[in-house]
Amino acid sequence: MEKKQIINFGPGPAKLPQSVLLRAQQELVDYNELGISVLEMSHRSSDFNKIMTKTETLLRDLLNIPDNYKVMFLQGGGSGQFSGVPLNLIGLKEDRCADYIVTGTWSSRAAKEAEKYGKVNVIHPKLDSYTKIPDPSSWTLNPSASYVYYCCNETVHGVEYNFLPDAHGAVLVSDMSSNFLSRPVDVSKYGLIYAGAQKNVGCAGVTVVIVREDLLGHALNECPIILDYKVQAGNNSLYNTPPCFSIYIMSLVLEWIKNNGGTAAMETLNKQKSSLIYDIINSSAGFYSCPVDDACRSRMNVPFRVGGPDGDETLEAQFLDGASKRGMISLKGHRSVGGMRASLYNAVTVEDTQALANYMKEFLKEHQ
Ligand code: PLP
Repeated sequence: MEKKQIINFGPGPAKLPQSVLLRAQQELVDYNELGISVLEMSHRSSDFNKIMTKTETLLRDLLNIPDNYKVMFLQGGGSGQFSGVPLNLIGLKEDRCADYIVTGTWSSRAAKEAEKYGKVNVIHPKLDSYTKIPDPSSWTLNPSASYVYYCCNETVHGVEYNFLPDAHGAVLVSDMSSNFLSRPVDVSKYGLIYAGAQKNVGCAGVTVVIVREDLLGHALNECPIILDYKVQAGNNSLYNTPPCFSIYIMSLVLEWIKNNGGTAAMETLNKQKSSLIYDIINSSAGFYSCPVDDACRSRMNVPFRVGGPDGDETLEAQFLDGASKRGMISLKGHRSVGGMRASLYNAVTVEDTQALANYMKEFLKEHQ
């Protein structure tokens, strides 16, 4: 029997380009004819050094990272940086305070973690639900804040910034875990950007941190040494054993992005893919609904309900069942939100998305 084609719409760890998986498979046992796997390679060897250098060079090239920024490949995931950011940056100014713009689960968690290390001014703590980015003119930023923090794409709620927040002269910090390299970014506008790799740039285990050099060296005394940016940057992310294999996979994904036109090409495709789904939602006369404001609908994670704004339990179960029969997996929304969520990261193709769009149309016709 022919094997069913699977399309993975998971929020992360997520789909990887097929060519990357095949190359990793080919090289797994014997990397570059060295007779060993990357999994077995010393992180201090010249061969691994080449992989690190290649990964960093590709990333610098893809994002046009200015020379006065350091790039680190760290462990601890996105959540590790919820602690790493305040531990390194909240002491930049004497008051030890930071502004956190909360627009979803992940910025909320980051703000909570930062409260352990200083004063946190939470902007929008009382949104009824995370479906919008309130007008920046309503933000009351603290002039003595060490930094202004935001999450560029809230993976659970599907809320994405399509503008650069004005930090009013303070250091701007962004969690780009779920939209990293999905579009061009002007790194020079930021003090720090970080991203876990397991959505758009590889597999779990490595987190990229891009930080402006002048922000190094301000870590609090209690900062664990493996999270100290000055130590890690000073050791080229080799203070301790880095996530070697995850970095190698990232190098393959970055190469794939480069060979496919870079971040500008990714952006064009991501706009096209997300429009395919939002257009069906918008033209379904309420059968499908997305609660997120038009202005900040994510291109990466599209949450939607089936059978009305609160969702119809039976229809949603049927929708998932039908999707699964067609090989479309991981469409169930986050447990805190319910409904569906289609994650359309870089590796998800227009054809994959078209298959989902076709199924949504079919389901609509059958059940409306
Ligand atoms: N930030 C964002 C935007 C995320 O989507 C996630 C996880 O999905 C995290 C942070 C936490 O990442 P990790 O699970 O690697 O700690």
